Amino acid sequence: MNIAVIRGDGIGPEIVGEALNILNIIAEKFNLKFNYQDVYMGGCAIDKFGEPLPDVSVKACLNSDAVLLGAVGGPKWDLQQPENRPEKGLLKLRNALGVYANIRPAKMFNALKSACPLRDDIANKGIDFIVIRELTGGIYFGEHFINEDKDFARDVMTYSKLEIERIAKIAFETARIRNKKVTSVDKANVLATSRIWREIVNNIAKDYSDIELNHMYVDNASMQIVKDPSQFDVILTENMFGDILSDEASQITGSIGLIPSASLGADNTPWLYEPIHGSAPDIAGQNKANPIGTILAAAMMLRYSFKLEDAARAIEQAVNKILDEGWRTGDIFDAKHDDKNKLLGCKEIAEAIGERI
Ligand code: NAD
Repeated sequence: MNIAVIRGDGIGPEIVGEALNILNIIAEKFNLKFNYQDVYMGGCAIDKFGEPLPDVSVKACLNSDAVLLGAVGGPKWDLQQPENRPEKGLLKLRNALGVYANIRPAKMFNALKSACPLRDDIANKGIDFIVIRELTGGIYFGEHFINEDKDFARDVMTYSKLEIERIAKIAFETARIRNKKVTSVDKANVLATSRIWREIVNNIAKDYSDIELNHMYVDNASMQIVKDPSQFDVILTENMFGDILSDEASQITGSIGLIPSASLGADNTPWLYEPIHGSAPDIAGQNKANPIGTILAAAMMLRYSFKLEDAARAIEQAVNKILDEGWRTGDIFDAKHDDKNKLLGCKEIAEAIGERI
């Protein structure tokens, strides 16, 4: 299994380094072999090649079986022209890989209930759902127009049957290995794209009679996520709604340092795995970063790209265990609400996870 490794900028090299240490432990335990190839993207690529994602990096990613990414960007490159900023590298990479489905779990760890901003009676019911967001269509990729006087602008939202069908299938397949419920979120009372979205999702649902499907307007969904998140299993939605709802969903679980994401595409192309946070330049190089989001992204890679469910679960269980035991990095350290909290650095918490595996 060949993995393209993008360490990136800021805390990227630290958190990716720890995720690779965990993968090496998994390789030993499950008798697997992972080959890693380092790939430059982001600020470090601008420094070395003069651009955020040189062709040589694209090629290396396309030749791999999966791509593991830390994070890119930082103040050093803030004055770059917009088309040459580190984050452009990420957009170019997503495009090159053709990844059209972004999968983001919103899971609250029992040990971290005190970090949940919701009322205790809501948090106690548990939060464990997945947002599946369409990633390459919709208003972000339609025409963007501003007139010369800058007093009129237009953004165009489009969706095709094919785009809706392929993302809907991923949602139903995901629900099948979870709690068998899909909530499709749209704005079908106003938008034409949402009206065909709803019809096409209903059609796909006919092939998944074991899965319960309901539809929800996006304004209601944003309210229900904070009112009763336990009602959700898989949320399926388009690009912009998913962008907003997945951020809301990650916030109610506590820390952004803990959440992974996967971006999936066609069967014959490599898929992309990364934590949801940025490069955290404020704590870079200080052994303070939380590597768990990246370690869980590596677990998603084992599950989705390599179909190694047992290995993925071994990582997730080890993460649960060290959190239950009270081990914390600074971002989730909360001695005020929990006197059993013990503070560890990035390296040490990853070592603890490795030992539990
Ligand atoms: P950020 O996510 O990097 O940081 C926000 C806050 O969360 C900071 O206080 C940071 O210290 C903390 N934080 C983030 N990840 C953490 C972790 N793993 N452990 C502990 N604390 C963590 O967002 P930002 O400050 O808005 O952006 C910083 C840089 O990252 C910018 O250049 C931005 O463009 C870039 N960025 C990159 C990505 C990506 O590579 N996918 C995503 C978002 C932002």
